Amino acid sequence: MAGIASNIPDWDGIPMLFDMQRFESGHRVWGHCLLSIILTSVLIGFMQIRWDWIGRGANRLQSVLPQAAMVVAQHEKKETDWFMGGLVFALIGMCAQLLHLPCDMVVSGGSGLSDWAVQPLWPFFNSAYVYPLIPWGDIGPTVILMAGIIAIAKRKNHISQIAGLTIGTLNGYLVVCGLIRGTLSL
Ligand SMILES: [Zn+2]
Repeated sequence: MAGIASNIPDWDGIPMLFDMQRFESGHRVWGHCLLSIILTSVLIGFMQIRWDWIGRGANRLQSVLPQAAMVVAQHEKKETDWFMGGLVFALIGMCAQLLHLPCDMVVSGGSGLSDWAVQPLWPFFNSAYVYPLIPWGDIGPTVILMAGIIAIAKRKNHISQIAGLTIGTLNGYLVVCGLIRGTLSL
């Protein structure tokens, strides 16, 4: 749920596949504003409660998913307060989408591209935020995060420590890149 929700803001990039010039101004604006984040989070939260797509997906994938996923499927079969349940799922979706914003703000520009600022308060205010520490296409964060995930899969009893180390390494990488790029000064 959180993984899917964290990618929702990028729906505003889809129109650019058809017409780059016309829709460039909408990327990091339409889907990356608080209005869209709140609406889509409430929508997917209550869709989950209504149709239980996490439970259904887990049931279909029973043979390949680990035992822990089956707990989710069984839990969802119980009577739940649909409003509170929807609210919890909506909040999870909202947190995941909000985390998307600072991640985008630090990745911008490079190889002739302009900085793509995030406008979280659109359409009410046009204030735009961008802190371009690394350029588009920088492979560093992907390598660091994937290494962290593989390490967690290998050493399941040190999940918190490895997760903390991974985030710490990622932040350190961003700071060093920003200093080298000259977009960050201490
Ligand atoms: Zn984005």
